[in-house]
Amino acid sequence: MVPLRAAAAGGLRRGAGRPGPAARSRRGAAPRRGAPLPAPAPSPARHLFSDLAEVEALRRNLLAWYDEFKRDLPWRRLAAAEPDADRRAYAVWVSEIMLQQTQVATVIDYYNRWMQKWPTLQALAQASLEEVNELWAGLGYYSRGKRLQEAAKKVVSELDGQMPRTAEALQKLLPGVGRYTAGAIASISYGQGNLSSCPQATGVVDGNVIRVLCRLRCIGADSSSPAVIDRLWDMANALVDRSRPGDFNQALMELGATVCVPKAPLCGECPVKQHCQARHRVEKELAFASQKLFSKPAPMPDVEDCGAGGCPLCPPATEPWDSSLGVTNFPRKAAKKQPRLERTATCVLERRGCHGAAEFLIVQRPSSGLLAGLWEFPSFPLAQGLQEEKQREMLADHLQAWMGQPVAAGSLQLMGEVVHIFSHIHQTYVVYSLPLDGDITVDPALSPFRWVTEQEFHTSAVSTAMKKVLKVREKQCKEESSPGKGSKRKRGTKLQGAGNTGKQLSLRAFLRPPTSP
Ligand code: SF4
Repeated sequence: MVPLRAAAAGGLRRGAGRPGPAARSRRGAAPRRGAPLPAPAPSPARHLFSDLAEVEALRRNLLAWYDEFKRDLPWRRLAAAEPDADRRAYAVWVSEIMLQQTQVATVIDYYNRWMQKWPTLQALAQASLEEVNELWAGLGYYSRGKRLQEAAKKVVSELDGQMPRTAEALQKLLPGVGRYTAGAIASISYGQGNLSSCPQATGVVDGNVIRVLCRLRCIGADSSSPAVIDRLWDMANALVDRSRPGDFNQALMELGATVCVPKAPLCGECPVKQHCQARHRVEKELAFASQKLFSKPAPMPDVEDCGAGGCPLCPPATEPWDSSLGVTNFPRKAAKKQPRLERTATCVLERRGCHGAAEFLIVQRPSSGLLAGLWEFPSFPLAQGLQEEKQREMLADHLQAWMGQPVAAGSLQLMGEVVHIFSHIHQTYVVYSLPLDGDITVDPALSPFRWVTEQEFHTSAVSTAMKKVLKVREKQCKEESSPGKGSKRKRGTKLQGAGNTGKQLSLRAFLRPPTSP
């Protein structure tokens, strides 16, 4: 799967849409030993950059535009000013990992805080995973931060603190560094691909580049298929400017992020519009339509796809060019797999701390899998389609089993629901709250847990979904305390012991069922 970046001027993603793991692994796969190499299907001329003069003009126009309009971004400033190659590569590497699947506007603050806290590979290698997760909290795709730190440790402990100096070595030696990231680090930090020092061209292909190239060359076949991805890498390597490879790669991505955006590309402002086959096709259609309007005899425009069913890069016969879409006919990709539906019961266990402030109990997730190592409110999976009463009972049973103490279903107060979309999961959290008067005694062999104030909660390694859960609870509490609304809190669940001195009380006393009327 190759997710494409969303388009919105000012909120443009630079990182979203980097080639997905499937595409990366297939590209890197070696042919079976002894198996004959499949002959590549021929690419019709309209899908190629075969005219050297055109390629040179495209490079010139794109780089001139980039020099004038590129965004001022902290990682670009660092890369331009840093004389040390390892530090430069580290600065680019962190930005590239953070930008995967995440908008530039979101990344800037995370990047600045990260580089302030861990300005070098050595500093990052000494950090704990907990610290990394805390800083990464809210950025999503948490395994990226974890792998970045693992890789930093590897550079320090196994590579003598020196970053690998080529794209191939970066990809081979560093966990979490795929073909795209390796090419970006090598071309931007080391100038790999510069003809004066390196015979090998180093282009890059991410979601933005896929979109731009597919439009420039009318590639309408599934852009996430390994065959098309391979062609796009060939194309990126053929196009990259050999005197400024790093700038050229960034310029192509910048064009995709700010001009050639997914839904409403700004073709009129595009520095490479004269080289764009998709735009030519739209212009021909418009010219033909206007001539037809004025009844002038005009030849049919040359807008046919190139092969009679044989071109591997044209749109499939079942999905021909759609005039109403214009250049956004490209790129295309296979329909996305529907995310899996999941429901989870989440319980905000709350007590009053030493100074009367609310404290919440959070538990740590396992060290592998979704949201590995992050902290959350105690959560338990639910089957789909359960009645609320049944959900409540199941949550009470789960809490009881976890804490080894009776928990009355009637003590749990339903606060609302939170929907959070992970890349492959549509998760609904059903939020309950349970006020307590003291500590609980959970078997330490189970998940680690701790009590945190609201402020501590927000600086802990908690996911965005859990922050939404706390908001639901806060909203509900505000509604309950607002004048005229009256308390909706169930009898028997009233917070007790506010202002206590932190004395540890027995759980049983606070989890007994509500008394009868
Ligand atoms: Fe993209 Fe339009 Fe430029 Fe073509 S002319 S590359 S479609 S912005």
